[in-house]
Amino acid sequence: MENFMKMAIQAAVDNVSENHGGPFGAVVVKEGKIVGIGRNEVTSSNDPTAHAEIQAIRSACANLGTFQLEDCEIYSSCEPCPMCMGAIFWARPTAVYFASTKEDAAAAGFDDQFIYEQLALAAGERQIIMKQLFVQESQDPFQAWVSSLTKITY
Ligand SMILES: [Zn+2]
Repeated sequence: MENFMKMAIQAAVDNVSENHGGPFGAVVVKEGKIVGIGRNEVTSSNDPTAHAEIQAIRSACANLGTFQLEDCEIYSSCEPCPMCMGAIFWARPTAVYFASTKEDAAAAGFDDQFIYEQLALAAGERQIIMKQLFVQESQDPFQAWVSSLTKITY
C-alpha cells in the first residue's frame, strides 16, 4: 500500500518539476495492480476539472473498459477536494487513501474550504447564480430515460 502512495506522491512531485500542473498525483489500484494514474493537468490542458483523482479515474475506467471502479482503491497524494469526492462517489471504489490533508493543501495555496461553505448554502444563496429555469420540456430527458428499453443503468 505504501508503494502505491509513494507513486502517487512521485507523480505529484514530477508534475511540479515538469511544470505540468498543480502538486497532485493519484493512482488507481485493482487487485494489487495499478490500472490508472493521474496528475493534475489544470494549467497544461486548460481544464479546471483535470484534478489528479479525476484524471486517474478516467485513466482507470478507460483501461478497464468500465464506468465503475468496483474492487478498486484510489491512492491520492492529497485529500480529495469536493469535486473529486463527487467523482469518487460516482466511480464507487472500495477505498480512498490520501497522504496530505486539505489543511496541508490550503497552506500551499490550494484552499477548497469555500466550496464546502458554498455547498452548505441554499442554491439561491450561493456566490454563483444557481436557480431553476423551468420550461415545458424540463421533464423530457427523464421521461425518455424511464421509457427507454435499451438504457444502460448505473
Ligand atoms: Zn479535486
